[in-house]
Amino acid sequence: MDEINLRIPGPVPLPEETLQLMAKQMMNHRGKEYAEMLDSMTKNLQTVLMTKSDVYFITASGTGGMETAIVNTTSPGDKVLSISIGWFGERFGEISDAYGCETIRLIFEYGEYADPDLVLNAILKNPDIKAVLITHNESSTGVKNPLEEICKIVKENSNALILVDAVSSAAGSIISTDAWGIDVVATASQKSWIAPPGIAMISFSEDAWKAYDKSKCPKYYYDINQYKEYLNIGQPPFTPCLTTMYTLEYSLNKMVKEGIENIFDRHSSIAKYVRNKAKSIGLEILPPENYESDTVTAIKLPENVDGKKIVAEVSKKYNIVLGGGQQKLAGKIVRIGHMGWINIDDIESSIVALKETLEKNS
Ligand code: PMP
Repeated sequence: MDEINLRIPGPVPLPEETLQLMAKQMMNHRGKEYAEMLDSMTKNLQTVLMTKSDVYFITASGTGGMETAIVNTTSPGDKVLSISIGWFGERFGEISDAYGCETIRLIFEYGEYADPDLVLNAILKNPDIKAVLITHNESSTGVKNPLEEICKIVKENSNALILVDAVSSAAGSIISTDAWGIDVVATASQKSWIAPPGIAMISFSEDAWKAYDKSKCPKYYYDINQYKEYLNIGQPPFTPCLTTMYTLEYSLNKMVKEGIENIFDRHSSIAKYVRNKAKSIGLEILPPENYESDTVTAIKLPENVDGKKIVAEVSKKYNIVLGGGQQKLAGKIVRIGHMGWINIDDIESSIVALKETLEKNS
């Protein structure tokens, strides 16, 4: 059987050299070799996230990174503005609820972006907001929020911290953490970082550390201070997912060598290519123009078509795994992931498979 063409928005398919690294022997995570690896990975992660702030590797999935952002910067009863444009935005708000924050929700329809004017209204109405939660790239809808503009509005009109779910954007779309004034960026290894799942990565600004000192949320495994103190001695606080760390070390090195601007350009031109291809077979893109994701393209299906059936048939006949619609969009869209390491033929064959399957079902 041919190899699977995995076109979901993460976990991403991995190149051969990364797969080989996954067979590497374990090491002592309290030894010198690990300390050296952690040091170089930390520096490279700062480069990719464009920050001089602290960055940490946590053995967790992306959701663990989001939880780390909240538990270390807020207290039960704090007002938190949760901006949601889809499923993952809702999740960020749910984590805030789970820790007893007073979550104020600003919800946009699936497929829309967060309107900066409405964000401004919400901020002005609630001057005591302690933190703003926002998804950079909403994987469930293929929408990229105007993050830079929203950060500017939040910074100019409040003292709130900005906590960003960058799980499916970082390393694919530009995030200028320091220049945009972002306090916490949370991302995860299985996305544009070209590694298996297992490691969440997080940045933590000076203001986030000030908030940490006041934060009363219960925490232990995700207590960021443990990661800080252990980083000072070149160690993780807990046994890390070494296999994912090995592969991340490799891809971080490669990214810095390639140059981050080149990586962002590459993602945005592939995204454009996918959109044009989809349009060329008569389909519409879900997000409005200028708000389309660089890492996953959400394509609307004709109304008479059952999207779940299309995804299942493409998988069975062509061995191509497309993303289906999630939640409110179940059955209505397909999503094509194009983050990380991309072979243009894989994109091409996905579009051909989608076209042929739609023709057969119309
Ligand atoms: N946020 C976004 C935008 C995501 O795409 C994902 C994963 N698809 C998550 C959060 C959750 O990440 P994980 O499944 O690694 O916990």
